[in-house]
Amino acid sequence: MNYKRKFCPICRNEFVVLNDVEEKAVYCTLKCLSESQNKMNYGLSSSLV
Ligand SMILES: [Zn+2]
Repeated sequence: MNYKRKFCPICRNEFVVLNDVEEKAVYCTLKCLSESQNKMNYGLSSSLV
């Protein structure tokens, strides 16, 4: 199977995912996923960050 290297946009960690799920896997952990959702909520009130 082929793996692809990605960088988590939240913690900047490098992680690897299967090619099959590469599009779905954006964050290295669920923690980073929830953090990104928190940031999106903040983004509604302040356009930056
Ligand atoms: Zn991360």
